[in-house]
Amino acid sequence: MYADVIIDISVAALDRTFQYRIPDLLRDSVEIGTPVMIPFGASDKLRKGYVVGIGEEPKFEPGRTKDIARIAERELTIEDTMVGLAYWIRKQYGGTFYDALRTVLPVRKKVQKQPKRIIRRRASEDDIRTAYQEAVAKKHKAKARLLEPLCTQDFIPYEIASGKMNITKATIDFYVGAGLLEVSNTTGEFFGGDGLNIVLNEEQQNAADTVLQRRGEGKPFLLFGITGSGKTEVYIKILEQVLAEGKQAIVLIPEIALTYQTLLRFYRCFGDRVGYVHSKMALSERYLMCEKARNGEISVMIGPRSALFTPFQNLGLIVIDEEQELSYHSETTPKYYADEVARKRAKDCSAALVLGSATPSVKSFRRTETGEYILLSLTKRAKDGAELPKAAIVDMRAELESGNRSIFSRKLRQAITECLQEHRQAMLFLNRRGFSGFLSCRSCGEVIKCPHCDVSMTVHRSGNMQCHYCGHTAPMPKVCPSCGSKYIAAFGTGTQKIEELVKKEFPNARVMRMDADTTKGKDGYETILTAFAEGKADILVGTQMIVKGHDFGNVTLVGVLAADLSLGVPEYSAAERTFHLLAQAAGRAGRDRFPGQVVIQTYRPDHYALLAAAAQDYRMFYKQEIRYRKLAQYPPCACMLRVLGLSKEEEALTAKMKELAEAVRGENVSVLGPAPDGMRYAMDMFRTVLYVKAAGKETLLGVRDRLEQMVPEGITLQFEFSE
Ligand code: ADP
Ligand code: ZN
Ligand code: ZN
Repeated sequence: MYADVIIDISVAALDRTFQYRIPDLLRDSVEIGTPVMIPFGASDKLRKGYVVGIGEEPKFEPGRTKDIARIAERELTIEDTMVGLAYWIRKQYGGTFYDALRTVLPVRKKVQKQPKRIIRRRASEDDIRTAYQEAVAKKHKAKARLLEPLCTQDFIPYEIASGKMNITKATIDFYVGAGLLEVSNTTGEFFGGDGLNIVLNEEQQNAADTVLQRRGEGKPFLLFGITGSGKTEVYIKILEQVLAEGKQAIVLIPEIALTYQTLLRFYRCFGDRVGYVHSKMALSERYLMCEKARNGEISVMIGPRSALFTPFQNLGLIVIDEEQELSYHSETTPKYYADEVARKRAKDCSAALVLGSATPSVKSFRRTETGEYILLSLTKRAKDGAELPKAAIVDMRAELESGNRSIFSRKLRQAITECLQEHRQAMLFLNRRGFSGFLSCRSCGEVIKCPHCDVSMTVHRSGNMQCHYCGHTAPMPKVCPSCGSKYIAAFGTGTQKIEELVKKEFPNARVMRMDADTTKGKDGYETILTAFAEGKADILVGTQMIVKGHDFGNVTLVGVLAADLSLGVPEYSAAERTFHLLAQAAGRAGRDRFPGQVVIQTYRPDHYALLAAAAQDYRMFYKQEIRYRKLAQYPPCACMLRVLGLSKEEEALTAKMKELAEAVRGENVSVLGPAPDGMRYAMDMFRTVLYVKAAGKETLLGVRDRLEQMVPEGITLQFEFSE
């Protein structure tokens, strides 16, 4: 037996493996992921490496292949920790060990280390404030944006100003020239961070204290706090203590909620000990951040799910804000769940794990009931301000009966009209995910589909059509491939269509649209949201992106156009998704001084997910939902394994999947299916699914291992767990 060993732990070096022979004595103990000591180079000096592959065949003359010397100790080094995590991820979520390693390791890129720069006040606070007010009065938006945080703090990091805040060098230079600000380098020492000058209220203090006192128990905490209850301040309080102990922390925030306001809050408390990553960052910058984490230059990493793999040596805390967000589930192999990986990482290094949400996932909330998680509640808003508005539910069937065929109910139309008259802003939300224009024939109704996948092609501005699933592109046909008619046209559905209708109905309103199409560029959504916040439009139309974590002081109306769309999805979690989206959408209105209004249009006005969201009542939703999950034995009341079978031959696939279903069906295991997947074929492969349910995950891991042994030729199986 032979093992492929990597010595250098970095993605760039993953393909450079060295083959060693596995001595007979070690056969049973060497597996993928095992740390080993190997003689290396001419001097045969022993070095530590990791086994990434095992095979029967020697790649060189057998005589020239050296033996593995021994199995190395697992140490507490960050390399061992990360390789161990990759090993665990592969076990849990499948895929290859390389996939798992690529997920946990940063891509190594040569980078020039830039000195860290900050923008600092040179003039007095009063002078800055005066300049700020002047900029606001003159409607110099970028200048105002730059000065606003500097009214209350001494500095902001240059990289945030030029990056997330989108402020040009010219703007910064203007104030440097005027003697108000200066740009300076900071090297070496930590600086900044004047700490927390907010006094926590009793609930917040309690929550922070509980985490600090009980973190030794090894249980995750769920911080369940209504919108505006001050969860971030609680995280910050806990962070202060963890940092004071010389440990580090990771704070996960969904990408879209990772605004510069959020970042500045952390910088304000912790100065340049804070680092951040986001998905549009250059790989070299990302790598630099990882290096800083590794060598101790930063102690807090803020970012989306990938920040979980920050190589901190002495991790003391992981926070996952908005823990119910789907973006914490990886969409590429290995399809890991950030909360589960975080739990594993926290456990391994005895760090505390804090999940926070105003509307927790059913899974996490249930765990507070079973005692696996510790529940912390914040029930009051931290700042005096408008209470969250109660939403009105409009029955669209009744609208139709009384002769209103428009997409706007009378109530919503009235509300928009008033909102515009008062010069406030409105958000109209369509809870449908990335739906862009497709091509169809007006004569025969044929929809142009991808030749390789069971999905329609979408139309691009370039004039080409593209398959969003496999990337296949083709020029737009001139005539219908089915009937030859030349009346073939792109249908802008979803948001684009709504935008048109809004413009028609309210010709004087300035309308902006935010969806997958309008946010493709580097700072796509940031630009649109900033423009909307600065009042450049009266109405923002968009998909679920518009409802996540942004504060617009002037928004007083939120309209949900068709609340049922996400209820119709054939998944057991459809009601939960709908509830989260609607509750978040409703939370957008009247955040500031002005009272808000929320209108939810629906064809199912008595569905509990809608009623609970309208009432902003999480527990009411949870009570109903968990009853249904128990009855139907869906997660979190049972564990479920989704088995997706892929094959070029549909009939053979169905037959084989039936066999597999029979083979695993048993006393403790129930099996649903096989049935064709929602997408019947993709990338020229037919797709069939099985659902396997059992009480515990261990049972299902066993089922998966057995299925993996049985995979028939010509069929690929993909597995996905939910618990
Ligand atoms: P959440 O994340 O729970 O929605 P935030 O942490 O964003 O809430 O806090 C909402 C607002 O309340 C923020 O402006 C924050 O600065 C403020 N805030 C939080 N805690 C306090 C407190 N104890 N006293 C005064 N203001 C607070
Ligand atoms: Zn046709
Ligand atoms: Zn395709």
